[in-house]
Parts: sequence; C-alpha cells; structure tokens
Amino acid sequence: MIQFDRVTKRYPERGEALREVSFTLANGDMAFLTGHSGAGKSTLLRLIGLFERPTRGQVLINGVNINTLPINKIPLYRRYVGMVFQDHRLLPERSVFDNVALPLIAAGLTRREIEKRVRAALDQVGLLQLECAAPITLSCGEQQRVGIARAVVARPPIILADEPTGNLDPELSREIFALFERFHGVGVTLLIATHNLDIIHTLPYRTLRLQQGVLADD
Ligand code: ADP
Ligand code: ADP
Repeated sequence: MIQFDRVTKRYPERGEALREVSFTLANGDMAFLTGHSGAGKSTLLRLIGLFERPTRGQVLINGVNINTLPINKIPLYRRYVGMVFQDHRLLPERSVFDNVALPLIAAGLTRREIEKRVRAALDQVGLLQLECAAPITLSCGEQQRVGIARAVVARPPIILADEPTGNLDPELSREIFALFERFHGVGVTLLIATHNLDIIHTLPYRTLRLQQGVLADD
C-alpha cells in the first residue's frame, strides 16, 4: 500500500512542489497521475522512489514511513519499486540483455538466475529475439519496452512510470498501457504519470490530478 499523509515538498529555490498531498493506493491498484508540466508529478514519484524526501508529512509503504529507513536499507527498498522513465535511460554501450540484467547484478543473483529472469522479462515485453541488440538500433517503442523489462525484472511489487509514453505515437502508447495492464493483472501496484488523457479516459482506472502541487481531483 502506498499512502501519502499530508505530504509537502518544498525546494528551497523553487517553493512548494507538493502541498499537503494525501491519498492511499491499495496493493494491486493501478492509477494514473495527471497534471500540467510542473504540477509535481515527478516529485511525487521521486518521493516514493526515495530520490527525494518530504519537507513535511509522511510517505508510508505498507504502513512503514520510508523516510525513517536508514541509508543502508535504501538499496534494498529500491528493489521493491521498479521505475520507468520517459527517456528510458538505457546504457547505449550495453546490449539489451545487459541493460535489463542491471538490477539483478546489483542484487547479486547468480548468472544462471539472471539469464532466466532477463529472458522472462524480455519475453513479457515481446523482445526476446533482440537480447543481443544495442539500444540505439531499436525503435522508440522497443527502447521503452526494454526500459519496462528492466523495471520489472526483479519482480517489484510496485511500478512507477514517469511519462512512459511521452515520446511515442498513440498506437505504441496503447501497447505500453496494455503492458502495464498485464502487470496489473498479476497483482503489481502501478502509479503512472502521464499526459496521455485521450488514452487514459478510455481505461477504467483511478486518476489522481495534481494542480500546482495540490491534489485537485481523485
Ligand atoms: P511535473 O513532473 O508534474 O512536471 P515536477 O515534480 O517535475 O512536476 O516539478 C514540480 C515543481 O518542482 C516545478 O516547479 C519544478 O520546477 C520544481 N522542481 C522539481 N524538481 C526540482 C528540483 N530537484 N529542485 C528544485 N525544483 C524542482
Ligand atoms: P521530467 O518531469 O521531464 O522527467 P524532471 O523531473 O527532472 O523532468 O524535471 C521537471 C521540471 O523540474 C523541469 O522542468 C525542471 O525545470 C525542474 N527541475 C528539475 N530539477 C531541477 C533542479 N535541480 N533545479 C531546478 N529545477 C529543476
């Protein structure tokens, strides 16, 4: 469960990016996060990923205030949360396989286990045949699917996505949303920041809308 309890995030030089934001997302739920550029969507996701800390209020994951986690527990916590970015952040000089394997190498899995899981993740996103390819030889949609395979390879119970279809045309965007729905179907909790209102209005999920740092609509 993801719970925000009156979370305010203030950047010293920019003022409040989030103000008194409260909501609860139950385990297994899928929800969208919308709002104009600068509304605070990335900040909200970065707070859950522990890349930022709230100025006031609490972020609770399964009832635990993550801001009380000691620094040495943060890498372990991050394995619990898969992140997908708009620009997918793949390493260009590494193969598709190696990019997807990164979280597992960090987790210290055996080579055998890594191969099994990477191939399972690439299979889920339909890219098994491209494991040896370099990311720059792939289309935008394929690159984003590699980014998603990397986010899910360690089987995190939570997936956060920040504008995952920002660079994709409507058809490819639909494919990416369909992939997220499949993860939702197997019990993953998903929070997806998106501008893609045309598509999300056709899908039956909750939408949280931020307006200048305030949760304006739920
Ligand atoms: P969104 O993802 O909805 O576009 P952001 O969370 O990126 O919104 O930004 C919300 C506000 O916080 C903006 O005013 C932005 O300039 C500011 N902001 C975001 N990240 C930082 C940062 N690291 N330092 C200072 N200000 C930031
Ligand atoms: P995006 O939301 O496109 O993934 P970011 O979250 O990094 O990108 O940044 C969103 C907005 O926050 C940007 O428009 C930028 O102006 C602002 N921002 C990000 N980091 C900083 C920072 N360190 N200082 C000031 N503003 C920032």
